[in-house]
Amino acid sequence: MKLAELKGWELRELIKKGETGCKEAVASFLDEIKKKNKSLNSFLTLTEESALKSAEIVDKKVSQKQKLGALAGIPIAVKDNICLRGVKTTCGSHILDNFVPPYNATVVEKLKKEDAIIIGKTNLDEFAMGSSTENSYFGPSKNPHDLKKVPGGSSGGSAVAVASGLATMALGSDTGGSIRQPAALCGVVGLKPTYGTVSRYGLVAFASSLDQIGPLTKDVKDSALLFGVISGHDPNDSTSLKISSKDYLKTLDSYKTKFKVAVPKEAFGAGNEKDVEEAVKKAIKLMEKLNWSVSEVSLPYMEYAIATYYIIATAEASSNLARYDGVKYGYRSKDSSQLLELYQNTRGEGFGNEVKRRIMLGTYVLSAGYYEAYYGKGQKVRTFIKQDFDNVFKDFDIVIMPTSPTVAFGLGEKIEDPLTMYLSDIFTVSANLAGIPAISIPCGKSKAGLPIGLQILAKPLAEETIFKAAYMLEQNLKT
Ligand code: GLN
Repeated sequence: MKLAELKGWELRELIKKGETGCKEAVASFLDEIKKKNKSLNSFLTLTEESALKSAEIVDKKVSQKQKLGALAGIPIAVKDNICLRGVKTTCGSHILDNFVPPYNATVVEKLKKEDAIIIGKTNLDEFAMGSSTENSYFGPSKNPHDLKKVPGGSSGGSAVAVASGLATMALGSDTGGSIRQPAALCGVVGLKPTYGTVSRYGLVAFASSLDQIGPLTKDVKDSALLFGVISGHDPNDSTSLKISSKDYLKTLDSYKTKFKVAVPKEAFGAGNEKDVEEAVKKAIKLMEKLNWSVSEVSLPYMEYAIATYYIIATAEASSNLARYDGVKYGYRSKDSSQLLELYQNTRGEGFGNEVKRRIMLGTYVLSAGYYEAYYGKGQKVRTFIKQDFDNVFKDFDIVIMPTSPTVAFGLGEKIEDPLTMYLSDIFTVSANLAGIPAISIPCGKSKAGLPIGLQILAKPLAEETIFKAAYMLEQNLKT
């Protein structure tokens, strides 16, 4: 039995039954990380000591037959833009490379309460801006299926950790696809929950009207398990919905089994790699075999999603990142004699190229004279994109699309061409703009053996529908 291959729910059972000691299991994960992280660059920081200590507590609970938390003994990796008290939280940036938060994010508190083992912090594109993890100040993570390929981004480190068995589960953040796209490129399951269901308290903000924390896991069951733990109202986050979390695992077996599926015609045809399109179409055939009703629909505003996203996301980013000035947080430039010079030098030296590009774009679209033409217009188109989905969900349970138009691309292949890189998100940004939940599950491999992701979207708060549909497909898809 290989611990690294177990799903979270399987590992918890083993530990509960005493078939493996938790400390022993955690130690073996840490050993693997030390062996493999040099080539994968998945983890930026290991929390070895505290992980082993938490494991000892779980072992004690097992031996004393105390009640175990829902995530007891499961090694979980946390994206390095989520605050962990006393542990560096860098956001993949030079400007925060020595920042140690004095508090835990709400999601971290929730993991701990359920006896999860946090084993380390994972690599990401700087401030979660990117689709390949190549924008990290600490170098790119590598795709475990082919080390010359990117793992996707921005939660690339988290996807790599789960795909290569260095962690059983991971948390990522998704502003425009950063959980789902790396999940697709690495062959794991990634969920972007409904906006407002998971607290962002302690998540370093990128674009506040779009950001969501969510799970990266090996299967749908683990996704449901982890989402059940991290969701729920949090008074510390003013955008948090007044909902309580529930046991989504239970709903996997009891929920309805037939779905009305909408397939948007805009998501197929030119622009998609052939292997991707074929794999997704095969999944659609399977849905028909399961007696789900499948119909073609149109999402006419989808063609504006990328442009809209890159106006709104950069505008919000430019405002959120104004706080890094060398005074309040992190890095401070050494030799400045004036305040303005201190700001300029700190930000000039501290931020990487992509972050600077976005701050400039965002500042431009918000500036006097251009605000209405760009940001104001962007917000209006966003409403149309949301209405597209509202209309479809009047008649359908789920929408199906590829997660990414391509499989994992080569390291360095798109880094000089930001616009091509931005197109990686063509199918993922709409869910963030509309605030709806979406999951990516593996649905096959390309001829070169690289994973392909299928995306399932549903209306706000319909995570139950997503999990059940994804679970049924997962049982029936041979990937
Ligand atoms: N790749 C997208 C971007 O660069 C999405 C990032 C994200 O979801 N954090 O903005």
